[in-house]
Amino acid sequence: MTAPEPARVPPVLDLRDVTKVYGTGETAVHALRGVSLTVERGDHVAIMGASGSGKSTLMNIIGCLDVPSAGRYLLDGVDVVGLGERDLATLRNRRIGFVFQSFNLIPRMTAQANVELPLAYGGLRGADRRRRALAALREVGLADRTRHEPSELSGGQQQRVAVARALVTAPTLLLADEPTGALDSASTADVLGVFDRLGRAGRTIVVITHEDDVAAHAKRIVRLVDGRIVEDVRREAVWCPLAAPAATRPHAAPPAPGEAG
Ligand code: ADP
Ligand code: MG
Repeated sequence: MTAPEPARVPPVLDLRDVTKVYGTGETAVHALRGVSLTVERGDHVAIMGASGSGKSTLMNIIGCLDVPSAGRYLLDGVDVVGLGERDLATLRNRRIGFVFQSFNLIPRMTAQANVELPLAYGGLRGADRRRRALAALREVGLADRTRHEPSELSGGQQQRVAVARALVTAPTLLLADEPTGALDSASTADVLGVFDRLGRAGRTIVVITHEDDVAAHAKRIVRLVDGRIVEDVRREAVWCPLAAPAATRPHAAPPAPGEAG
């Protein structure tokens, strides 16, 4: 008798030959030209590329805000292609915690209340909401700022509240779009420290960025040029970039032909 197969955990992200075309005919824009990408649980990936390379398009597809023109996309084992608006929204709300460049916090509401917000419609008891929001704020190092309003917090602290709000629903994936784009260098370091900590704690993180210092904190860097992945490298010793060895290149692809743009 053979032992039963161990249950296989699907990758968090599994994109196969995903394309995205905006418009039709002569004015069609090929924003993604066949992107294949697998992200396993616990990975911390930075997606990089120049303006116009397709980062936002890829982020929208990964985040179930838009669907591919062709190709396959499985999020946490769920086939996304073919889902309707409602199912997409449900999948998005359950599995993804979004962090945006502009923190999108509600003014004149405390950090605690902002973080509780995603739980407000879930039928969770008030005491449970408070407990989970506090745990998320603790995870981003803000347990002592729960009663502060956004205007009483630094930019870095505001973004950390936004990260706590993204984590409070226990998503499979933390998806961040230029999370330090609106921050000064001190606040950037502050937020990157939180991502480091979450990465070490085994969170699955995908960060879209065009900043090298943000990518230097990821475990893996994926580079887009003209709608194609041209490089996919894994780093070591991510929490100490200055001491880290040069990134290894296990499966770097050659640059895409043609011009970037
Ligand atoms: P990035 O985020 O890396 O700057 P985008 O994904 O925003 O790149 O854009 C990739 C390409 O697709 C660009 O040429 C852009 O002009 C085009 N594009 C993006 N969104 C749309 C849209 N809604 N309609 C038409 N073209 C678009
Ligand atoms: Mg963009």
